[in-house]
Amino acid sequence: MTYLPLKSRYDNMRYNRVGRSGLKLPAISLGLWHNFGGVDVLENCRAMLRRAFDLGITHFDLANNYGPPYGSAEETFGQIFRKDFTTYRDELIISSKAGWDMWPGPYGDFGSRKYLIASLDQSLKRMGLEYVDIFYHHRPDPETPLEETMGALDSIVRSGKALYAGISMYPPDLTRRAVKILRDLGTPCLIHQPNYSMLDRWVEDGLLQLLAEEGIGCIVFSPLEQGLLTNRYLKGIPIDSRAAKANTALDPEDIQESQMAKVRKLSALAQKRGQTMAQIALGWVLRQPAVTSALVGASRVAQIEESVATLNKLDFSPEELEAIEKILSK
Ligand code: NDP
Repeated sequence: MTYLPLKSRYDNMRYNRVGRSGLKLPAISLGLWHNFGGVDVLENCRAMLRRAFDLGITHFDLANNYGPPYGSAEETFGQIFRKDFTTYRDELIISSKAGWDMWPGPYGDFGSRKYLIASLDQSLKRMGLEYVDIFYHHRPDPETPLEETMGALDSIVRSGKALYAGISMYPPDLTRRAVKILRDLGTPCLIHQPNYSMLDRWVEDGLLQLLAEEGIGCIVFSPLEQGLLTNRYLKGIPIDSRAAKANTALDPEDIQESQMAKVRKLSALAQKRGQTMAQIALGWVLRQPAVTSALVGASRVAQIEESVATLNKLDFSPEELEAIEKILSK
């Protein structure tokens, strides 16, 4: 069946400006790290991408090594893009990244010019795209000179294979240096992609402030802490959950009772607001003015719908924020 997106797709989504750039991103973006690999059911992937777009999610985030196996999320996306989204290319922001291990040998990891440029060429082939909108260096490289890595991002943007450059997981000091190098090269850093959630708040220690000062956007990944900040694990580990699956970054041992005790309290607070646990967790990261978008994952359509419905109630009273702080600080 030919896919015709809903005409109402832009009615309820909120679009936030990315730093001081000309670009806007949806407040909720969808990442394809998990559940879009070669091991997953294609029709479910397709249903999630269609529903996301119908709800105004214009941004899909990928990386070279998303799967499993590595590369397969980009292949899945490419297959679905060709069938459903070709007509809507100019309504979409598609990103990819390189920086983690991708292929064997010394040229398929970290931050060399050799790796970044070759990797993006491979990503474009897998997705069947002429360009990505944002290309990121995925993580800092302790050995490659920062000038080389940023120089590669600048070359990539000048080549037209990416429209904007971004960095991911760079700590504040390195971010400051990377931003300066890119600015001097004439390719400003558009956006930073760090993790941020109620259970992991490192970005509050300088990074968010720096990004606001520099006019750089911030898209935060794993705002649901891979599913811990939902109702999913309150009664054990469901067999179809990320924690129960092989090849994921969520170990059953990561799910500690002390965390679940906090989630139960937060969940009760969410209910009082007429929200779910996932929604209070997403609203809470979006309360930060420096945060442009919350980058969620999903294994089914209903989770995407629930995430987007967060936008129905974003404001927090001072009392609610205080109650959250109290729960988190214990
Ligand atoms: P989340 O914290 O949003 O976790 C997503 C998972 O939470 C889902 O797969 C699902 O788990 C569960 N979930 C989501 N919504 C609900 C709900 N309403 N009710 C119950 N459970 C729910 O984000 P991710 O960890 O998936 O990361 C999001 C994206 O961020 C990635 O796809 C990727 O694009 C990016 N990322 C970037 C990184 C970087 O280094 N730059 C690193 C990691 C991620 P289940 O599968 O169990 O149903």
